[in-house]
Formats: sequence, C-alpha cells, structure tokens
Amino acid sequence: MKIINYLKEILKKRFNRENFLAYIKIFGCQQNEADAEKICGFLKFLGFNFTDDILVADLILFETCAVRHTAEEKILAHIGNLKNIKKANNNIFIAICGCMVEQENIRNYIQEKFGFIDLICGAKIIENFPELFYEKLTGKKLNNFCNIHVSQVLQKNKFKAWVPIISGCNNFCSYCIVPYVRGPEKSKDYNQILDYCKKIIKNGSKIITLLGQNVNSYFYNNFNFSDLLKEIDNINGEFAIRFMTSHPKDFNKNLVDTLASLKHFSNHLHLPVQSGNNKILKFMNRKYTREEYIEKINYAREKIKNLVITSDIIVGFPGETNLEFEDTVSLIKKIQFASIFNFIYSPRVGTAAFNMQDNISHDEKVRRISKIIKIQEKISQEFLSGFVGTNLKVVIEENFANKSIARSKSNLIIELEEKFNVGDIISVKIISSKRNSLIGKKI
Ligand code: SF4
Repeated sequence: MKIINYLKEILKKRFNRENFLAYIKIFGCQQNEADAEKICGFLKFLGFNFTDDILVADLILFETCAVRHTAEEKILAHIGNLKNIKKANNNIFIAICGCMVEQENIRNYIQEKFGFIDLICGAKIIENFPELFYEKLTGKKLNNFCNIHVSQVLQKNKFKAWVPIISGCNNFCSYCIVPYVRGPEKSKDYNQILDYCKKIIKNGSKIITLLGQNVNSYFYNNFNFSDLLKEIDNINGEFAIRFMTSHPKDFNKNLVDTLASLKHFSNHLHLPVQSGNNKILKFMNRKYTREEYIEKINYAREKIKNLVITSDIIVGFPGETNLEFEDTVSLIKKIQFASIFNFIYSPRVGTAAFNMQDNISHDEKVRRISKIIKIQEKISQEFLSGFVGTNLKVVIEENFANKSIARSKSNLIIELEEKFNVGDIISVKIISSKRNSLIGKKI
C-alpha cells in the first residue's frame, strides 16, 4: 500500500491533478480485451477513471495486435498521431502494450521512430505492467510489487466476462505469429479460475467466455478442459459458458459429449477451419484433414441440438490454386456455418509460411475473398431467417438511441425497438431477420 500511495503522489505531481483519466484503445482479439481489463483494474486501483476522449486523457494506452500486417500498419499510424498530443503536453504518459511490441524489430522501430513513447510492454510480460509503470514513473527499479492478479480485473461489461484459462500456443500453424509473440502454452491455475468464475457469476456476469489460443489443450494438475467446463457448469446461477478458440485437431468426441451434458453451454462453437483443401491444410500445419473436420462437425451436430457453428477462413495462402480454393468454397456450402470471419493471407516475418512462394496476385486474393463473402452472406441470411417466429432468451448488451442490442445464449445478435436495462435477461419473439442480425420484440 505504501508503494501504491507513493505512486499516486507521483501521478498527482505529474498530471497536476487529483483524479486521473486514461484512454485505452484495444486492437485485435478477446485475449487483448482480457489483458486490457487487467491493466484497467490496476489503473483503477491507482485512481484512474476512463475516457473515450483521447484529448483529455493523462494516460494513453494501446493494446496492440500482430496477427495481420495491415493491422500493424494501422496501429503504427495511430501511434504516429500521438506525437502532437505529446508535444502539446509532455506530461501525458503513453504506453504501447500487446502482441505487436513483442516483436523485436517492431519494438526497435517504435523506439527509433517514436521516441516520445513512455512505456513498451509486450504480451508475454503483461503481468509485469505495474512494475514497468512504476519504474518509468519513478526512475527506480522494483521487483514483484504488484503482479496483476485476476482479482484486479476491471470488467468493461459486468454481465460479460472474459476468463483467460490458457496463454500462448504450441501449434505453430505456418502462417501464425502468435506462438512467437505469446510464447508456449501455459494453463492457468484450476482453482483460481473456478474461484474467479464463482465470484463474477455471483456479481452478475451472465456470459462467461473462457479464453485461450487453444482452449482445448488446457491441462493443469491432471484437470483438462472438459473437467474445467463441468466444474464451471456446476456453479449456481443464470449464465452461459462460451469459449474460444478451439483447434479442430483437439476438438474430440469426449469434449462434444461433455458439452452435450452441460446445463450452461451456450450452444455456440467457433471452430476455425481455415481451408477446405487437404494440401493447403498440410502446408498450414493444421494437423487435420477436410474429412476429419466434417466428421467432427457432424458428430457435434448429432449430439448437440441447435448448435451454432462459426469459423475462420484464410484465402490466398501461398501456392493456393483456384481448384484448391474451390475446395474451401465447397466446404463452406457443405457445413453451412452461421457466420465466418474471412481473411486474406497476411505474410508475417518469422513464420514458416513467410518463406513459401506467394505467387497469387492481390486482385486474385480479393476475388476469392469476395466470392466467399457473397456465398456466406446468403448462407447466413438463410440461417437467420430460420429463427423468425421463434422465441429466444437474450441478454441486453447495449443501448443506442431508442434501441437495445441483445445477444442470445448462442451468440446471435438481436435488435429490439425498445430500450431495456443493460444486463437484463428477457424473452423475445423474433419478428424478422437482417443480414447479420435478428429483429425481436419482448414477449
Ligand atoms: S492454433 Fe495456430 S492459428 Fe491458433 S494461435 Fe496457435 S498457431 Fe496461431
């Protein structure tokens, strides 16, 4: 506490006020949102409040993503724009965190080009943010004063909780930078996860999303992912369990049987397939075939009624021929996903695919992704129109003007023409469907 008070005094002097404001911008995935919530918990502890207006902030923090080159370019442009803010007020503290700055070349580039940045903290050392923050502000070294613990998480939405259960990845898919920037898999303490889930469910969290690059490989003291799901399912309360991301190679019949037995499973499965062609899957180092993927989906659909399945697709992987791309198209048509996140292959320095010959023109990659988007739009629309006339239980997520936006247990978005309290659970009748959402009315 002595250290915290000392830090507060330093902040008061630096910002020349009693109450401080932080502006946090998050790029990328839910893991980044979870990391940002931990940092926000620490900042709140120091007396920060949060603002959407970057121009009034005392502290600006970017939580960055490294998955795609275009995302990095966008983030670097945002960082460049901070120069004038810092020039106008040198006391503002600027921190760049996350996966992008875990890469040495990018860190060096930022340090050289944007010397005004106060703190760089990569994804692997995010738990050390408090120490690094202290050191930068005071100029003094300090070890282990306050690692960020789950108990200090500041949830953005009280009813919606991210629960990281495993960090890092051992899979080394040939296109992916994540194993390099987040390091090897490390499962979090089983009992700590359970205690945290009990606490947040008691405090009103309605959607519990278990997070990890590959949640299926969770393993801690002989407890696996199925064990963890069953224990969380036994907690008293009204909530839905979601998880992401699953790797098809580890998504097995035992796990499906467990999911089918849960009272609280959301009935939403995000299972990234990436390609429908076996040669490309091999080059991607995904360790499953098209046939195995289809078999797993069939088994899951057989065991779990009304399962909503979503996926990720990469088009234009190095060497992908048009015929191989057409295998992805046929897989999409066969599986009939509820929705897909589509990406054009993005070369990442240091990954195995970076050295593969990328001989597909940009125009061709755009043609392929456009084709998939068009096909999936039709499938999604048909899928959503199937809900018209049915009743769904939904959680109110946010309000806009006179509307509320809600989410079903299985992750469908429902627009309501009335305003409700955020976090309320209500039953609605679906009266129509749009391209990506449903329109409902309270029953
Ligand atoms: S499973 Fe593959 S795509 Fe997912 S994080 Fe690991 S390496 Fe990347």
